[in-house]
Amino acid sequence: MTDALFRNFIDGRFDEPSASFDSVDPSTGAPWAKMPAASEADVDRAVEAAHRALRSGPWRTMTATARGKLLVKLGDLVAANAGRLAELETRDTGKIIRETRAQIAYVGDYYRYYGGLADKHEGAHVPIDKADLDVTIRREPIGVVAAVVPWNSQLFLSAVKLGPALAAGCTVVLKASEDGPAPLLAFAELVHEAGFPAGTVNILTGFGQECGRRLTSHPLVSRVAFTGGPSTARAIVRNTAENLAHTTLELGGKSPVVVFADADLDSAANAVVAGIFAATGQSCVAGSRLLIERSVRQEFLGRLKRKAEAIRIGDPQDPATEMGPLATQRQRDWIEKVVAESLAAGGTLVTGGARPEIGAGFYYAPTIIDAGNASLPCVREELFGPVLSVLAFDTEAEALALANDTPFGLASGVFTSNLGKAHRMARDIHAGVVWVNTYRAVSPLVPFGGYGLSGLGREGGLDAIRDYTRSKSVWIKT
Ligand code: NAD
Repeated sequence: MTDALFRNFIDGRFDEPSASFDSVDPSTGAPWAKMPAASEADVDRAVEAAHRALRSGPWRTMTATARGKLLVKLGDLVAANAGRLAELETRDTGKIIRETRAQIAYVGDYYRYYGGLADKHEGAHVPIDKADLDVTIRREPIGVVAAVVPWNSQLFLSAVKLGPALAAGCTVVLKASEDGPAPLLAFAELVHEAGFPAGTVNILTGFGQECGRRLTSHPLVSRVAFTGGPSTARAIVRNTAENLAHTTLELGGKSPVVVFADADLDSAANAVVAGIFAATGQSCVAGSRLLIERSVRQEFLGRLKRKAEAIRIGDPQDPATEMGPLATQRQRDWIEKVVAESLAAGGTLVTGGARPEIGAGFYYAPTIIDAGNASLPCVREELFGPVLSVLAFDTEAEALALANDTPFGLASGVFTSNLGKAHRMARDIHAGVVWVNTYRAVSPLVPFGGYGLSGLGREGGLDAIRDYTRSKSVWIKT
């Protein structure tokens, strides 16, 4: 991989950008690189290239086994270049190097998993009640895929889209977020090196209102795979009114973590702290609402406060750092506003609530608010930052009601040593993921997605490939 990385990758070539913008290093607040700003015309070229690759050329006739091998090769290249990709992601988003290294280590696994599945998804033969008719159902690639991702975990969030889409035989135009696109633009070199035919995978970045809108409304796009916030999701759904593309939406969350008094409190406290403060809270599955049984509330809050205050905040490139800055100034401004409103409305600060004194970066201290009231803004809003809101409960029924008291439904955690309670909570929590006595585990084998405002559709697992196909029924007179 070279250092001259930051160009859009369209139709198998790296473009000289006609326009660019500054990317800011969140740990210093200063610009560090120029990024290409794709125009609507660039998007059109990328979609047309993807459409040509789908309709003609080597990709269309390539066997599923050969497609799978390309995906496996791409996974191996990601693994071999993990160090460089991790450094770039850390530089451009402020996510600490420990976390980017750990996450990129399994991004390669996602490509290998879908590479292995490419020749294992099958059509069907239908035994209809007519002796002279033979009916088969073919599963065909759905078409050109527009994949749009946010700035956090871009390599991972792209892998769960590109992996099944390419395994199914689709072609893709992937839009990296304008906040921190460096790792995906560098990843484009690996796509090139793996040997995908020109136009099969196109990677560009630019602004949502311009190139994101054009991409998701493009008439040649048949499938939109989006990860981001709910308000952008609504804009995307409006965009797809143009092309009627089949759309999946992976959105935000306000995930509850329920800790019962009978839990192993030390391990629960570690999971709660990692659940909210990993990635500086900028994670869709952040466990941002702690629901704690009242009898252990004081003791548990004491443990959390000690652990939060011991977190080493600092330079994200330093492997000893445990929490880095927020990705953008805009993000910190929003968090400061919601915390101030929540304290004014009666919340009590347990710890944090301020900017630590570390240079000019977008840092914010690990913060815990004893909310006391479920209507506080810090309990209702997705902050996407290092802020944990705490509510106490007395009964299992009350814990469940509080857990489900949100329009979101992405993830949840339950900590208890009572098996029956764990089963009942897992059954009744309104969320796409329930982790019991653990938090944040992921695997390419397991579907992931939300209820309610957290999204539409699932990514990951076997079924994801099917979601990038459409059926064709073929009737043959015998
Ligand atoms: P965002 O919604 O602002 O942006 C996401 C992407 O959409 C960006 O690439 C942006 O350029 C693009 N976009 C913006 N406006 C557009 C438009 N009108 N048409 C087409 N594209 C447009 O999200 P963000 O602030 O970058 O990321 C944070 C959000 O992402 C949070 O809500 C978080 O919970 C969510 N998220 C969800 C998951 C998940 O898997 N469920 C994972 C990570 C992040």
